[in-house]
Amino acid sequence: MSIQDLHVIVVGAGITGLLTCQGLRKAGIRYSLFERDVSMNYRSNEWTMAIHWALPLLKETLPAEVYANLPDIACNPTVGIHSGLYPIINGETGDLITGVPYKDGLRVPRSKMRALCAQGVNIQYGKALVDIAFNESSNGVIATFSDGTLVSGTMVIGTDGPRSRVRETAMGSAEKAAVTKFPIFHTNMTVSYGDAEKARYVRQKFPTSYLALSQRSFHAFQSISSMPDGPDHPESWIFHMAMAWLGDSNNMMSYPERLAMIKAKAEGLGEPARSAFMWMPDDTEVHKADISYWISQPWNNHHGRLTLVGDAAHPMPPYRGQGLNHCICDVSHLLKGILGVCDGNTTLAEAIDVYEKEMIPRGKEEVSCSVENGMMLHDWNKIQESPVFRRGFKPMDGHSSVEKESVKA
Ligand SMILES: Cc1cc2nc3c(=O)[nH]c(=O)nc-3n(C[C@H](O)[C@H](O)[C@H](O)COP(=O)(O)OP(=O)(O)OC[C@H]3O[C@@H](n4cnc5c(N)ncnc54)[C@H](O)[C@@H]3O)c2cc1C
Repeated sequence: MSIQDLHVIVVGAGITGLLTCQGLRKAGIRYSLFERDVSMNYRSNEWTMAIHWALPLLKETLPAEVYANLPDIACNPTVGIHSGLYPIINGETGDLITGVPYKDGLRVPRSKMRALCAQGVNIQYGKALVDIAFNESSNGVIATFSDGTLVSGTMVIGTDGPRSRVRETAMGSAEKAAVTKFPIFHTNMTVSYGDAEKARYVRQKFPTSYLALSQRSFHAFQSISSMPDGPDHPESWIFHMAMAWLGDSNNMMSYPERLAMIKAKAEGLGEPARSAFMWMPDDTEVHKADISYWISQPWNNHHGRLTLVGDAAHPMPPYRGQGLNHCICDVSHLLKGILGVCDGNTTLAEAIDVYEKEMIPRGKEEVSCSVENGMMLHDWNKIQESPVFRRGFKPMDGHSSVEKESVKA
């Protein structure tokens, strides 16, 4: 198949969809990217994410002029891309339990990462995928969107996140594609103290981020998220805070009620976590995150005309910081396969089979591991046995030598 014959339909403009289109754009392959929301970050709440083992793959995938801007969006712009130890601390005493090593990593806010990956990418907003049809007598697919738009293309790539509509087609039913809720009440907050002294104090010991594990079965997390007026204006610094505990989530609670619950738990924490949470302003919006998972398994890719990438393929709890790293890895592998098709080295059906043969076991392993890790981190007697303590941020085994090389440190 020549490059001119390819038209790739990408569904979902999260980081995975945007990154996929960056790679297609770089290779000169025609794409159409559809997003159900009416604008970028329309209803999504903010959080920060650590990119570590997949950073070399991100560099390979993004056009050089886009990748060059990556250090500018780092949560902690004073260090940018750097190596170090991620602090996991004893919630009650504030003492370090362990430092999880990472080499050449950085933490980024989701909104800025999306904006970076959207540079130069054409996004068609307000279009939710509702159906995919395959004409068995010819190549290609037809995607139908909520506003009645019909689009034909060579293939559909589902980058539509944890509750993927594309996954329903791939699995043949909504039931088989359904996620399982991870039994946790996970809150995310965006906080500015508006006070230079307070902002400086909470970063003194852990300048970028830390994870505090409580003996009372919850975790508290804080990261600098951005410095709108620069490092010399702490009064404007913005923080990502999160607190989560096992149990059923109650969606009916108001922001002030959630905040009161969080502060009641924070009262027993050691410094700096105690102050960081107790100082949160009264009008803080306490967003509840949807933490759910689906254990990756083979699907019908309709002779290479449909596949899944990123959270659509392997939604997982975030407590080992793996989701986005796997999204990046998926995109990198898939693009190599598609390029092989353009070069005439393989057929589309073969390329997608090869991609899924590596990705599905990798996703399955990581989702299972992240579920186990999420449970153990909230059980004080088991935290030392958890995957993040035993394996750090390194990916699990189902990996090619490329990633193994990039995570040796
Ligand atoms: C609190 C938290 C912390 C995290 N920390 C880390 C970390 O430190 N390191 C790490 O590697 N990962 C981390 N992750 C995971 C990471 O955020 C995700 O893996 C990644 O953002 C997934 O991106 P995505 O583009 O695949 O999915 P999404 O961001 O969910 O994007 C999917 C897009 O598809 C759109 N869409 C959905 N349905 C349709 C449809 N029918 N039609 C059209 N569009 C549709 C959605 O509107 C959305 O824009 C964290 C996650 C959370 C929640």
